[in-house]
Amino acid sequence: MKEIIKKISYLRGLCNGYGFDRNTKEGTVLLGILDVLDDITDAILEDGDEDDDEEEYSYAFICPACGQELEVDEDVLNNEEELICPACGNVIPVLNEFAIDDDGE
Ligand SMILES: [Zn+2]
Repeated sequence: MKEIIKKISYLRGLCNGYGFDRNTKEGTVLLGILDVLDDITDAILEDGDEDDDEEEYSYAFICPACGQELEVDEDVLNNEEELICPACGNVIPVLNEFAIDDDGE
């Protein structure tokens, strides 16, 4: 992995050395490719240590009875069939739109 990063920065150095800049067609293409390579290595590196920042997604529901906003974790959505509004006790059915995504066509 480090090899690849080294190669990319080597190429970037070459581009700078040869005086490619973004105002030329060649420079646009070459620097564009280098940007993409950077993005790819970033993405790969981020994948490597995903323990650190495990993202929890939460969704906002509005209680239809009282308008109270409920913040619900993705986890809860996947496991519960209904939510209870903390403000008024109204039962809000959870439409599992996330689970039945398959027959969209
Ligand atoms: Zn409510």
